Amino acid sequence: MGQWCFLDPVAVLRAGDPLLPRCGGPTCHSDVVRLLVVEDEVGMAAALAKGLRAEGFVVDVEGTGPGGLEAARFGGYDAVLLDVMLPGISGYTVVRTLREERNWVPVLMLSAKDGEYDQADGLDYGADDYLTKPFSFVVLLARLRALLRRDPVPRATVLEAAGVRLDPASRRVEADGAAVDLSRREYLVLEHLLRAHPAVVTKESLLDEVWGAPEEAGANVVEVYVGYLRRKLGRTRIETVRGVGYRLRR
Ligand code: CA
Repeated sequence: MGQWCFLDPVAVLRAGDPLLPRCGGPTCHSDVVRLLVVEDEVGMAAALAKGLRAEGFVVDVEGTGPGGLEAARFGGYDAVLLDVMLPGISGYTVVRTLREERNWVPVLMLSAKDGEYDQADGLDYGADDYLTKPFSFVVLLARLRALLRRDPVPRATVLEAAGVRLDPASRRVEADGAAVDLSRREYLVLEHLLRAHPAVVTKESLLDEVWGAPEEAGANVVEVYVGYLRRKLGRTRIETVRGVGYRLRR
């Protein structure tokens, strides 16, 4: 089970991960991709930093929640790998605080918990993705590259359907004229439904567009997030098309 042993950078380098596209997406505006690792377990942090540096990333490490938050605020990182259980404040609080400050740096949470609700919690606080420890370094790289490939620049056309209005420039969302606070994932799911309207969006395409690595995300994570959206926007705006996916009401 070598691949699933915790973090073996040597094995990763040997594998060369030929199926994974190299970073070349819109966030890769220079040759340097800067990562912040927030992890209090010294051995884990060192192994992560070593493996990621071997892949060509520039890596900084912080060992506490407050230190990670400050670094993420001001460090200009392309992505943050964020442990959940940290000294000071939790990773959940770090990511929630960043999102409240309208900081959209991609965040990949490294969770030691493995309950579905814990993971959904992390996403609801604004993380972009999560991995449950122990994880494969190859999978970590794939998830990280998927995050880095995403276009961070919102397309500035206001989208409207079913009484919902979404302004990508300000990320403001309104339902019947009242502002609605959405987590980043909820926002992305809604944005895809709005862009497709009145067409149906399949679960697979939502997984692909919002989670980036459909084969890795849990199959029911889309249902969980549609449920969150219905709670915030009203139950009737998003229709389930059984066996196909979802669409916004006409
Ligand atoms: Ca920890």
